[in-house]
Amino acid sequence: MAASVHLALEQLKMNGVRMTPQRHAILSFLMDTKSHPTADEIYKALSPAYPSMSVATIYNNLRLFVEAGLVRELTYGDDSSRFDADLSDHYHAICKGCGQIVDFGHPPLLEVEKVASKETGFMVQGHRMEIYGLCTTCNTITK
Ligand SMILES: [Zn+2]
Ligand SMILES: [Zn+2]
Repeated sequence: MAASVHLALEQLKMNGVRMTPQRHAILSFLMDTKSHPTADEIYKALSPAYPSMSVATIYNNLRLFVEAGLVRELTYGDDSSRFDADLSDHYHAICKGCGQIVDFGHPPLLEVEKVASKETGFMVQGHRMEIYGLCTTCNTITK
């Protein structure tokens, strides 16, 4: 984790972004969590240590990280954006009960892109795929 924060900081510097304690806190938090938090959740987690930080500050910094290619923004349904600092190839399973997003590793479905390109003539630039269901906790409650 420490290594990736260091790399991220280098990347930001190259993008001409000054590192502030708040920025560092937001980035570290994102890199240490697997919960794909919203700006609001990050705010709740960090505000005790950084009382002067507002949700707007967090949101603006998240935008900056997304533009620098350090963080992925996830938009699922109508909910507010969630953020993921894990840039490795992975897909998401989303619980319809509690809304949590869980990572699972799978090689990118390039075959699907190939078929799509062949059948539609599109120059394919990417795809999104997510799995919906009930997480182990929610599945136990409903039983
Ligand atoms: Zn659940
Ligand atoms: Zn993820």
